[in-house]
Amino acid sequence: MPYKNRVRMRERIFMFANIIIDITHEKLDKIFQYKIPSHLEGALSVGMEVVVPFGRGNRLTKGYVIGFSETCGYDLSKIKEIQDISRKGIAIEGKLVALAAWMKDHYGGTMIQALKMVLPIRQQEKEKMKKKVRLLLDEGEAKKKLDYYLEKNQRARARLLAALLDTHELDYELVNKKLNITLSVIRALEEQGVAALESERVYRNPVKQREQVQKQIVYTEEQQYAVEQFWKDYENGQYGIYLIHGVTGSGKTEVYIEMIRRVVESGRQAIVLIPEIALTFQTVMRFYRSFGDRVSIMNSRLSAGERYDQMMRAKEGNVDVMIGPRSALFTPFPALGLIVIDEEHENTYKSEQVPRYHARETAIARADMEHASVVLGSATPSLEAMYRAKGGAYRLLELKMRSRQQEMAQVHTVDLRMEMKNGNRSILSAKLQELMADRLEKGEQMMLFLNRRGYAGFVSCRECGYVAKCPHCDVSLSSHRNGKLVCHYCGYEEEKYTVCPECGSRHIGEFRAGTQQIEEIVKQQFPQARVLRMDMDTTREKDGHEKILAAFANEEADVLVGTQMIVKGHDFPNVTLVGILAADMSLYSDDYRSGERTFQLLTQASGRAGRGKKKGEAVIQTYSPEHYAVVTAAAQDYEAFYREEIHYRELMGYPPAENLLAVLASCKDAAHLDIGCRFLKEYAFRVQGDAQVELIGPASPGIGKINDIYRKVLYLKAKRYDTLVRMKNRLEQYIEVNDGFHTIRIQFDFNPMQVF
Ligand code: ADP
Ligand code: ZN
Ligand code: ZN
Repeated sequence: MPYKNRVRMRERIFMFANIIIDITHEKLDKIFQYKIPSHLEGALSVGMEVVVPFGRGNRLTKGYVIGFSETCGYDLSKIKEIQDISRKGIAIEGKLVALAAWMKDHYGGTMIQALKMVLPIRQQEKEKMKKKVRLLLDEGEAKKKLDYYLEKNQRARARLLAALLDTHELDYELVNKKLNITLSVIRALEEQGVAALESERVYRNPVKQREQVQKQIVYTEEQQYAVEQFWKDYENGQYGIYLIHGVTGSGKTEVYIEMIRRVVESGRQAIVLIPEIALTFQTVMRFYRSFGDRVSIMNSRLSAGERYDQMMRAKEGNVDVMIGPRSALFTPFPALGLIVIDEEHENTYKSEQVPRYHARETAIARADMEHASVVLGSATPSLEAMYRAKGGAYRLLELKMRSRQQEMAQVHTVDLRMEMKNGNRSILSAKLQELMADRLEKGEQMMLFLNRRGYAGFVSCRECGYVAKCPHCDVSLSSHRNGKLVCHYCGYEEEKYTVCPECGSRHIGEFRAGTQQIEEIVKQQFPQARVLRMDMDTTREKDGHEKILAAFANEEADVLVGTQMIVKGHDFPNVTLVGILAADMSLYSDDYRSGERTFQLLTQASGRAGRGKKKGEAVIQTYSPEHYAVVTAAAQDYEAFYREEIHYRELMGYPPAENLLAVLASCKDAAHLDIGCRFLKEYAFRVQGDAQVELIGPASPGIGKINDIYRKVLYLKAKRYDTLVRMKNRLEQYIEVNDGFHTIRIQFDFNPMQVF
């Protein structure tokens, strides 16, 4: 029986199996019950493919077991029997059904919700013609033309031609959506006989392609070591979990590519997860160069139909490598060999929909079921990943040197309290202004980065840096509209301050400064500077994000002002200065992960400076220059940060030292919600047994009401994850059988990325 360790068959023997027949149908919620015949008793497990009679004619068809029950919802005399277990071995769908069952178990929600995440769902849609842009010139001619475009400053044309010089043929979608080149540019190249826009029929030979453009690089010793460690295990059928810790530019992507190449050559496939925002043209092209047409990309801009097509291509063996954000994890490859998760620490790997799964854990579960390896990579590994690497569950591979030997940026920390004392009330410190003037003079570029995390009302003193904190939880208090300061963990409240309790200053309040204001300030202070702004406003239009970055990469501006979204993505070789305007903003968000998030943001942001040949500088402006997250980020010392942070987590019992389960409840009726949460807490208290579960709350989350629906959150804390899974199962049962909960929506979130 496959996966018996994974999908727990309970001790009891179930009479009935719940079965889905058409897993590609949009309405997955059509579940059929079948009787389990005596010859199959105890032999079935979730995900198994079975043969069942279906419909009026009792045509034999295949279905997948998604669960069991002791009772039957239908007329017992009419219920049909499962015929047999399908003997063709486990189909990929079965594996994904089993994964869905694992997700349901680990993250809560229903089996249907989990299945909808995991299975590719077909949707009726008109088929689109696939188009390609093909280079018509030979290399010499093309290079001449490229020089001409550059000379004439025809940047879009140059960009397209440069890309075509690399691969000779490009997907139209790729050109349009990732390279941000419009149809009119392609038409212009067509008129000049440089390139042609063609439909799918002209198919290139991917193998030939691969030989043509393979860039030869000599791996550094560290890269070589990482690849060999991975490969030695893989070849011996030991599929492990690896954490590559390497600064940006240390050559992690090259390492992934080499690992994938070997896995693909061995006849298996690979999935590469990348945060959507980092899924840029540059990154995608690197994979194209290595794997040609055998690589496919998934992103949120694909329609449901397009996604389904991609999934089917993968299933049918037409693709070896799938690159995409979180959901690409469920690519139905027939023989998955490797899952890579780049920027493993990113928040976007956690789903915000039920089941609220984490891609890292789910990837590991999938790899375990399918005997594949997992490679995690980051310059600033999550506490979770490093904790496990240190504990021996993951294998740590370090890349300490930058592959092209660029120096790391020089980092200056500016104490904003001193700026205030020295009479500088501008959001730009004296040091930053000095360096900005210098860069403008030299014609180099800079990025100003406003840390918007934790904007939700943390209160601080501009004179001494004092931050209002909860006396019970060691997290900052949030300012609520009701005039109170509130702790989102325990519900503690106090009155808002008008003067600072620390120094008596009246300059205490919520920090408010937007990117737009900063743009204004920069333009005022440096009228000669060309400024671009990137935030939610300027990126609302389709591809707005990519357009701004492309313009900045083309050096159409000197200064790029933005929120955390500018930290990721393109490499800008001419950027030699990064200013981080308010490092504290994320530090005091009311959240146990705020130190980690701050360290990551500061490290990644300062890492943007000096990616080219010129050395970079970064300025971190902060009210708390002595905070360990700031000090260690300025020193670019991950180890020191990790030591401090893990100590704090252990002390407070926060993940990864212990585990936290948020139970989110929402309801139209506030009083009813209160009662429901109280009952839930009492029940949790009663059923915890000797597991020692700490119950916190219920408290009002940061946003206590959305659209007139009230929200509450209850936290359960325990040493072991499986304790919390057991508690979740009990609570789910309790909720199901209690009518009072019919009007309350409950969601579970294990080890949440933020507090609610
Ligand atoms: P990371 O993913 O860690 O940021 P990359 O793999 O993107 O690093 O490498 C940064 C740059 O250095 C890329 O342009 C890459 O092609 C180049 N590079 C990586 N490894 C080597 C190497 N061994 N020799 C020369 N260039 C390399
Ligand atoms: Zn003060
Ligand atoms: Zn508190």
